[in-house]
Amino acid sequence: MRIAFYPFANVNNTIRMRDGRLHVRLSDLLEGAPESVIEAIAHILLAKIYRKPIALAQAARYRRYVCSHDISAKAHLVRQIRGRKRIASAKGHVYHLEELFDALNQQFFHGLLARPRMTWSQSHSRRSLAHYDPAHNAIVVSRIFDHPLVPRCAVEYIVYHEMLHLKHPVKLRGTRRCVHGKEFQAEEKLFPHLNQAKAFLKTL
Ligand SMILES: [Zn+2]
Repeated sequence: MRIAFYPFANVNNTIRMRDGRLHVRLSDLLEGAPESVIEAIAHILLAKIYRKPIALAQAARYRRYVCSHDISAKAHLVRQIRGRKRIASAKGHVYHLEELFDALNQQFFHGLLARPRMTWSQSHSRRSLAHYDPAHNAIVVSRIFDHPLVPRCAVEYIVYHEMLHLKHPVKLRGTRRCVHGKEFQAEEKLFPHLNQAKAFLKTL
């Protein structure tokens, strides 16, 4: 058996059988993890390679540790350093994302949100319209919105939604991630052209 820590970009652990030997790689973010967590990982990896069910308690122990604040902050930092994401410009052909952010910030957040990096996506993605990327502290908006036929309220709504993610970080309920909580949804309804914006998004 060969076991080593490995600098994955993320918290990740792998196991494979090669030439009659088990090769195990553990994310170096787990260096210094308590023994019980390492045991849980060993259990999970062995269950995987022998195709046995994973004990829920072990899975929960591992997840709790990885979701704990410390390790996710560490993971973000490492992703930031190792990640290869190119950050493009906020200025599009039609819409300027930083200007949109600043105006919405005044209108809905008393100007209190710190502006992250604002960037148009590299591709014209319809699958991911926008997302907030905590590792790079960036709001990325699909380039399909940077077009004269796209109504301003639709781009504003997309940016507003991501700003709400800034204001309401993902919470952990037990081990479940709560992305659009009650407060998030209530605040989203404050957007004045919500129906018009959503109707436009449906046409994409
Ligand atoms: Zn969302």
